[in-house]
Amino acid sequence: MTDYITLLKDNDLKATIQRTSILKSINQAGHSNIDEIYEDVKEQHPTLSLATIYKNIILMQENNVIVEVPMNGEKSKFELKKDDHIHLICQHCGSIQDTTITQKRQEALIIENFQLNTAQINLYGLCKKCQST
Ligand SMILES: [Zn+2]
Ligand SMILES: [Zn+2]
Repeated sequence: MTDYITLLKDNDLKATIQRTSILKSINQAGHSNIDEIYEDVKEQHPTLSLATIYKNIILMQENNVIVEVPMNGEKSKFELKKDDHIHLICQHCGSIQDTTITQKRQEALIIENFQLNTAQINLYGLCKKCQST
């Protein structure tokens, strides 16, 4: 299990119950949007407001604990900061699949006169399930 308290402290954030609950919810879902996080966290902490959750998400994003995944017209999803990877995003059902950046793909990313620090690659299309329906 991920140690959310250490994760927060390592990134200069106080480990509050709100933050660890949000991280737990995101981690369990893999990728989730603000409404999904809210619905999930609310079950255990009914007094938490959407505004509080939103504020904490922004803060954790600024401190590199979580990463925003743009959903192309839909609400952004969030995931825990992981190694750089590629997202395969289904435009039909909204599912997100992680796939690794292989050595070969990494070489294709090398851009002249540009020092690449982090990469987020989002590919939009149809997942296997949606292709057959
Ligand atoms: Zn799909
Ligand atoms: Zn991801």
